[in-house]
Amino acid sequence: MMYRTIFCAMLLVILVDALAESIETERLSSIVKELASDEYDGRAPGTPGGRKTVEYLVEQFRALGLEPGGDDGTWTNNVPMIHTRFEGSGEMRFVVDGEAQALQQKVNIEASTVRAVDGIDIDAPVVFVGFGAYAPERGWDDYGDVDLQGKVALYLVNDPDFAAEPGEPAAGLFGNRKMTYYGRWAYKFEEAARRGAIAALVIHETEAAGYGWNVASSSPGENYAVVSTGESVAPVLLQGWLHWDAAASLMDSAGYDLDTLRTRARSPEFEAFEMDDVRFETDVAVIVDHFESSNVLAMLPGEKHPEETLMVSAHWDAYGVGEPDEKGRTIRPGANDDALGIAGILEIARVLKAEPPLERSVVFAAWTAEESGMLGSSAYAKDPVYPLEKTVANLTLDILNTAGPSRDVVLVGEGQSELEDDLVRAAATQGRRVTPESLPENGLFYRADHFPMARGGVPVLLIMQIAGAADLVDGGRRAGKQWIDDYIGNCYHQTCDAWDSQWDLRGAAQDIDLFRIIIEDLGNSRRWPEWKAGSEFKAVREKSADARRKL
Ligand SMILES: [Zn+2]
Repeated sequence: MMYRTIFCAMLLVILVDALAESIETERLSSIVKELASDEYDGRAPGTPGGRKTVEYLVEQFRALGLEPGGDDGTWTNNVPMIHTRFEGSGEMRFVVDGEAQALQQKVNIEASTVRAVDGIDIDAPVVFVGFGAYAPERGWDDYGDVDLQGKVALYLVNDPDFAAEPGEPAAGLFGNRKMTYYGRWAYKFEEAARRGAIAALVIHETEAAGYGWNVASSSPGENYAVVSTGESVAPVLLQGWLHWDAAASLMDSAGYDLDTLRTRARSPEFEAFEMDDVRFETDVAVIVDHFESSNVLAMLPGEKHPEETLMVSAHWDAYGVGEPDEKGRTIRPGANDDALGIAGILEIARVLKAEPPLERSVVFAAWTAEESGMLGSSAYAKDPVYPLEKTVANLTLDILNTAGPSRDVVLVGEGQSELEDDLVRAAATQGRRVTPESLPENGLFYRADHFPMARGGVPVLLIMQIAGAADLVDGGRRAGKQWIDDYIGNCYHQTCDAWDSQWDLRGAAQDIDLFRIIIEDLGNSRRWPEWKAGSEFKAVREKSADARRKL
């Protein structure tokens, strides 16, 4: 009798399982094939291909039976943006004791603006701020009493313990080789702005930056930004990279040694200082183009706690049209980056819609303008449709494995939030495990669309296959590494990132399904995953803790 009951129960489980929808590789493939086709012209925001993408996504979400999740009951969330360009090459120089050292865009400086101004006229003293970290929670302050108002701040890249030897006071304070937010140029520009600096330049070093000068200087004089919506702090007027050699010769002529300064900056005793008789000068005209684009937002309302939202997202934009490659192709279709992520969120939406409603709401976000600097997600995080304090988590897909099933999933940003424990549990249900990213010094945790949400305090999880080699069922980690090297070396942001009928999307489907599992679990729970101790984002989240306290 007992056995019969168990047998019947098992049969029921098998039947229900067979009826349940699952993430389908053919659907993923066909969505990517559509979005990466020539008709979409590389999905650049502000172009017909970009608008066609938005229309396609709205159509897909509508057909799946979701509800509009954007502004005022629409499917979209408007993102007004600017594109800025320096007119001409833009003369810039350091002046040391009255002697000019000319700087040339792309050669030894890469400077631009994110302000809608018609010109930039600077003649200001230069302050060397070391790594420029203000981290009271780590007992670290590089600024001391220095006054940055109206001045040019000169930064070292990465954070104070990147190159620290064991036993040095800085060692381990900023995650060792792992990059913290304090190491990113974005943080440095923001901190400079908060302190009233007119400009901020980061001295480039390949290893510490995670990429070479060719990448840092790839669009000299050009930038994109969200049109400011009355932020309390305006960004610096001029921002960019300074080549190491130019910084070294500047220091040399001013009576300093850059290597020595870099070592000194690793000490908690270091304090920023204004350099004697050193000025930075420029007078350049700026061309500003205004344009608009949209995030696409869809939602599945929760039955019991609809105001508590789980967000799953990917970016719809890609790199548009560029220079012809050796085969004459000009469209950079972003098939994996990130049409595949978009296909992933559409599949999660389809599967969840087919199941009984969750208690909490699920918001699907397809962001615009990630490739121009995470602009769509940043604009949303600044002015969210669903309050961030009641957003349980943001789960982001950006570049997935196309080389078949894997025994593990790569975790980006180990030690950041409790969501990594959710990921471990979800992976276990698939008989898989979690492996930390192999290149944390590249700071990928700070380089995708989940990040503006993190900065707003929302716990985040990112699946980005270029963060580390997967342990592939066919070929192991060596094959996973080979896949990354091929993708980064040939296809990343290039014409070669195209749809391929040979892709094996079973691994991608597994990874996407991890998010579905986490959403179903959190969607029927009252749990609020938190940032772990030591995370740079814990303090922001805790400010809104009252909003999440159970009544
Ligand atoms: Zn991407």
